[in-house]
Amino acid sequence: MSNASSASPASSASEKKPAAQTNRNFGGLIAILIAIVIGVLVGVFYGRQMWLASGEVVHYRDQLEKTFDQKEEFAKEAEAEAEAATDADQRERLLQRAERLRSHKPIIQERIEEIEALEAKAEKDKDSAAFQFAGIFAILTEFVGDIFLQVLKLLVIPLVVTSMICGITSLGDIRKIGRMGGWTIGYYVLTMAVAVFIGIALVTVIEPGKQADDTFSYVKPSVQDKEGTGIVETLLNVFRGREGDDGGGMFPSNIFQAATNTNVLALIVFAIIFGGALTTVGEKGATAIAFFEGANEAVMKMVHLVMLFAPVGIYGLVAWNIAKNGGGEAFYEEIRKLGWYVATVLIGLSLHVVFLCFLLTVLGRRNPFAYVLGILRALLTAMTTASSSATLPVTIECVEDNNGVSNRSASFVAPLGATVNMDGTALYEAVAVIFIAQSIGMQLPLAKLVVIFFTATLAAVGAAGIPEAGLVTMVIVLQAAGVPISGIGTILAIDWFLDRMRTTVNVCGDAIGCAIVDERVVKSEG
Ligand code: ASP
Repeated sequence: MSNASSASPASSASEKKPAAQTNRNFGGLIAILIAIVIGVLVGVFYGRQMWLASGEVVHYRDQLEKTFDQKEEFAKEAEAEAEAATDADQRERLLQRAERLRSHKPIIQERIEEIEALEAKAEKDKDSAAFQFAGIFAILTEFVGDIFLQVLKLLVIPLVVTSMICGITSLGDIRKIGRMGGWTIGYYVLTMAVAVFIGIALVTVIEPGKQADDTFSYVKPSVQDKEGTGIVETLLNVFRGREGDDGGGMFPSNIFQAATNTNVLALIVFAIIFGGALTTVGEKGATAIAFFEGANEAVMKMVHLVMLFAPVGIYGLVAWNIAKNGGGEAFYEEIRKLGWYVATVLIGLSLHVVFLCFLLTVLGRRNPFAYVLGILRALLTAMTTASSSATLPVTIECVEDNNGVSNRSASFVAPLGATVNMDGTALYEAVAVIFIAQSIGMQLPLAKLVVIFFTATLAAVGAAGIPEAGLVTMVIVLQAAGVPISGIGTILAIDWFLDRMRTTVNVCGDAIGCAIVDERVVKSEG
């Protein structure tokens, strides 16, 4: 049966936007911008007090202590490798590495003492009203950010399932999925490839790794665990899931377990097949389709409700993130140490956005300024949550309500994009891996750059739309290029910031993809 006419209530409603709604959206956007400014100011100027009063400082000291031990551990490993090495040059290099790692230890020790002094002072001040206030303020700031993020995440599963099923059933004839799927995948592949190319070109020209300071570099256990997983195995696991994980992979054995693990890709695959099947069972399917359409509308209403709370939540996320990383002082220090690296990533991401806008103009026949203004709320949410998945409800809301993209395109391209289309992550992974190689003086021949090109794209596809996922899948790229994974420690301290930037570009890519597919597939069908 055909549902093409009945399935896009949102799209018809969105084409003519009432003036009151436009004003409300604009007001909401201004409120979010103000919230971000306040969040940054609080985080930068008051973050250090919040950091001390909330006890977060203890985690930092812990990490410094672990870094201290890890330096010794890596130095010993390098010495053991040197002993086993047959090549004299390689032995020399490994011994130098061990020596360099040990030379970091006194500097780390000095920092630990500084932090201990700060903690001792905090202990003395702990009964003062200012200290107590900073503690309560930190807890409340963290709370409002957490609750906003949690509620957004809460909506992701119902939204993905209902919108995907509606998107598929609205195609009417399941064979039409080929055209939409073709354009969507083609767009994802093209944009990710361009993103990686921009990243490789920039990092090779700017060479930020030559001035890198890796004294405080630390490798997280989650990254170490990934070591040893081969590329083929990792890719196969995208389909099958890891052994013993019933909810993992594209085809999990338990769909509820997949939902529990927020395995969005599995839910998308299930919803596509389920939606397709519904369109083939005639009248009997109509009731189920109507149910999912109603459910989808209701979930979108809930998204609108959550967005009323966005300015407060976004303030909390911004201020707390800066504060828990040590406040303005710590941020400046990281920027000072890794400034060129940060600049390379940011320039690359900006160039990529220009490319996306170009595609939007040529293929999507849209004014990029107006379009980006329409999705600004989603971009700011991405920047503050560092999660494409958590931003998904806002992305769909913005492209449909503000930019008039049909529900058919948005409900297919956006959820799939939030899981597999990660332009920012792909660019970032390529830059980061080459940066790490440069920082340890490793030359990468052209063949290795080609390997990085392909693996960075695949690693980005494999990264989930959650914070810091790209950092973990980067291990695949490092291994493929033969760059030591311990190098990740150098970029760890600033990753929380770059994660936000690349997630914004990931979401921008998804949102622009919606307009292009809409123009090329839905509108061309009339
Ligand atoms: N945080 C990113 C996202 O959700 C993924 C990444 O870590 O690059 O899109």
